[in-house]
Amino acid sequence: MGRYLGSVCKLCRRVNDKLFLKGERCDTKCTLDKRKKKTGGKPTRFVKKTSEYGKRLTEKQKARFSARMNEDQFRNLFKQARKMKGSPGQNLLYLLETRLDNVVKKMGFAQSMIGARQMISHGNVKVNNRNLKVPAYRVRIGDKIVINPKLKENIGLKRWRENYTRIPTWLTVDKENLSGEIISLPSRADFSYPVDETLIVELYSR
Ligand code: SF4
Repeated sequence: MGRYLGSVCKLCRRVNDKLFLKGERCDTKCTLDKRKKKTGGKPTRFVKKTSEYGKRLTEKQKARFSARMNEDQFRNLFKQARKMKGSPGQNLLYLLETRLDNVVKKMGFAQSMIGARQMISHGNVKVNNRNLKVPAYRVRIGDKIVINPKLKENIGLKRWRENYTRIPTWLTVDKENLSGEIISLPSRADFSYPVDETLIVELYSR
């Protein structure tokens, strides 16, 4: 499957859940919220599957859409998680959480995963003083992340940064200098993907 270029709100509608793919708009003008208000909370027409398989598939899609990955990338990440010690489901969430694009977003420097990825691939992110254009880079404790100061005056990002308060405890951020550091690695409680990972494992174990 190629890169999805359609409306991101459609992805939320497909899984009938808010995936926060648009940044600021998701808090203020969410189309899914509006739709749910209209239908009295009933699922939208995109959510038809209620079978066990359907539930597992939806859970996997939620994680995949949130990470903005295609099926092959996501499946490969799962294979990697399976090879690691411990629970494959938790390993998968750990691998998703510690990707550089996710960290840039969690630090509040980008509004969405796509925004963070673009920032990285355009060479606007330095890790340990080195320009790194690899969104899939896995962060480690002590990594220092610095965003290109040119982006300081970008009005949309500035407003987002100033209002952003959801910085996880495993990261520190200096909003003024557009920099941050990984002070510990995320534990189960820090995983931000809104999914039941056991259903994803069951889906891929069929
Ligand atoms: Fe999803 Fe955000 Fe669109 Fe709401 S506004 S449907 S949370 S992408």
